[in-house]
Amino acid sequence: MNARQHAVAAITSWSQNGARLATKDVPIRRLYGMNVFSDEVMRARLPENVYRALRNTIKKGAPLDETIADVVATAMKEWAMERGATHYTHWFLPMTGLTAEKHDSFLSPTEAGPAIAEFSGKELVKGEPDASSFPSGGIRATFEARGYTAWDPTSPAFILENVNGTTLCIPTAYCSWTGEALDKKTPLLRSVEALSKQALRILRLFGSDASKVFSTAGPEQEYFLIDKNFYYARPDLINAGRTLFGAKPPKGQEMEDHYFGAIPERVLAFMHESETELYKLGVPVKTRHNEVAPSQYEIAPIFENANVATDHNMLVMETMKRVADRYGLQLLLHEKPFAGINGSGKHVNWSLADDHGNNLLRPGDTPHDNAQFLLFLAAVLRAVARHGDLLRVAIAYAGNDHRLGANEAPPAIISVFLGDMLQDIVNQIEKGGAKSTIQGGEMRIGVSILPPLPRDAGDRNRTSPFAFTGNKFEFRAVGSSQSIAGPIVVLNTIVAESIDDLITPLETAVAAGKDLNTEIQALLPKVIAEAKHVIFNGDNYSEAWHAEAAKRGLPNRRNTIDSLPDLISPKSIALFGKYGVFSEREIHSRFEILLENYKKTVTIEAQITLQMAMRQILPAALRYQGEIAQSVANLKSAGAVVPKTQVSLLNELTATIEELQTAIAQLEEASEAHVEGDTYAHAKHARDEVIPATNAVRAAGDKLEGIVAADLWPLPTYQEMLFIK
Ligand code: ADP
Ligand code: MG
Repeated sequence: MNARQHAVAAITSWSQNGARLATKDVPIRRLYGMNVFSDEVMRARLPENVYRALRNTIKKGAPLDETIADVVATAMKEWAMERGATHYTHWFLPMTGLTAEKHDSFLSPTEAGPAIAEFSGKELVKGEPDASSFPSGGIRATFEARGYTAWDPTSPAFILENVNGTTLCIPTAYCSWTGEALDKKTPLLRSVEALSKQALRILRLFGSDASKVFSTAGPEQEYFLIDKNFYYARPDLINAGRTLFGAKPPKGQEMEDHYFGAIPERVLAFMHESETELYKLGVPVKTRHNEVAPSQYEIAPIFENANVATDHNMLVMETMKRVADRYGLQLLLHEKPFAGINGSGKHVNWSLADDHGNNLLRPGDTPHDNAQFLLFLAAVLRAVARHGDLLRVAIAYAGNDHRLGANEAPPAIISVFLGDMLQDIVNQIEKGGAKSTIQGGEMRIGVSILPPLPRDAGDRNRTSPFAFTGNKFEFRAVGSSQSIAGPIVVLNTIVAESIDDLITPLETAVAAGKDLNTEIQALLPKVIAEAKHVIFNGDNYSEAWHAEAAKRGLPNRRNTIDSLPDLISPKSIALFGKYGVFSEREIHSRFEILLENYKKTVTIEAQITLQMAMRQILPAALRYQGEIAQSVANLKSAGAVVPKTQVSLLNELTATIEELQTAIAQLEEASEAHVEGDTYAHAKHARDEVIPATNAVRAAGDKLEGIVAADLWPLPTYQEMLFIK
């Protein structure tokens, strides 16, 4: 038996043994948040004044009083040790897009007698991971190799359980000694600051006493699950997270019978346990269902403050990966694990909220609320109109290139969907309060009440990359494996700028005693006129839209290499610099890292493709060629007629083998070519030379899959991976 046949055999004898749910009988109410140093725990364990000070920092962004750190550290340590923790770690989000931990023991041996448990405020607040192996994009020279981690009190500490012990995890930001951000959290926190500062100016004008605005996020996470045995038989899945070979199965998703269909038993068990683990970590996961493709599923949480939601989405991905293992399953988070089958995205629902819990993108019930809503809405619209290129950058990487622009995901052109109702209102406002076709009334700011906007699925435009869905925007072009931090940083920052530009003249006018509503009524048409070319309510998949978008001057960056230079444009550097989110050096470091990542991904895929082609596919094809040749020879020597069809099969096979070998030689050449120039030149070479050569090897390999005898074929097929559960 070859690896593939082993895999199929192993799956038929899989049993639920070992997979268990220790907490099956614990009620959710007890389970939820039990491993979180939550508000409730803090209130119970911290002295009143310390609790208040910390809460002030968390809720209102007040600077953290250093004197309280020791008290918090002690309480945190005691709480964690009661729950079996032996170690603690500063948990951070390096620019790899993954999470990182460096564990330290609570215990310090003493000269006299037993070890004592130590964990001071200093250790809570600041850590020094030896992190020279994390990417810094040139920021960190070797002489300043160390970065440090700084406690982020706005994201709660939590305990990660393992069968042999538990670890206290402290969410932290990660910076260089020169104060430059080396991670994804620092810019996120800065962008929330920037957004808060600007959004509060709108709220002030409307008489609100809110003291903080933050963005909220609810990421809907798509993923595939396949049997682990198949995974281990596919070097491409192991090393690249996606299949680099594989002919499309005869039964693909044409039937569309998987979507919202019954969830298979083993997968359901996996979902239950993942959710239980996530509840313990205080991650409010809520919905689960099948997705469009076979073996594809989705999990979605209830939205939270974007900083916490970002940490929680990392926990969702990591927890599911761990739990899948217990069920003999492999979680695939790649954007396109199977060519020709729907890929996976992450719809990031995004909105703004104040610290009173008001959603600022929710149309209000009074004319007063509506005026405020329309200001925020117009600000977002114009932000996307100005900086669609940066939203595109935020989702640009090799994995997502396979998805964007295909007929399953939004195109690479960033536009906004508003829906008919809101579109009509926006049109009226632009015309300065003309008659409404829908309402028959007149839209006067501060006077009219908005009609209730539809929020049902019927009004959704699934083809839009950025859609208003009643009380939030849904950014649908985000990839399934990526951290949501980047997209949220861009959204927060571009909206902060847009609000800033909009609010300054209003503040001046109001200070001069003018009427706010009249001023807004005069201002909004200008903002909408500037932004309206980014609004598109039609079919984003259509060719007509591509032509129309080009006419409107909307950028269409078809892939990562075309998109990334927008990150270092003067417009981008000025924007991020003005709002203190990225310094110019930080932007360049990210540009370097993104290019480097792209090149590495493409190179690794090319290498795996070569290996599989030479060591698995070619040998199988040659063996089969030998078998046919032998059977032809046998017929000849027996004096029988050799059917033409047999000879032509042999010829076809031989020609395809030759095609494969030629493609292999070309890919080797493209991979080894000497490239002059900087990182961009290398990444561009990867896109223009290496990817096409890799695709050619795959094409020949997939053709062979259709010819070579099934019992000789070494790789689990799409059919097997997607339909045997
Ligand atoms: P659906 O898109 O399936 O109709 P919902 O609209 O209720 O479902 O929500 C989808 C996702 O959007 C959920 O993760 C939800 O928590 C999130 N969401 C809802 N309201 C907001 C908001 N104000 N800010 C951010 N995310 C939100
Ligand atoms: Mg949705």
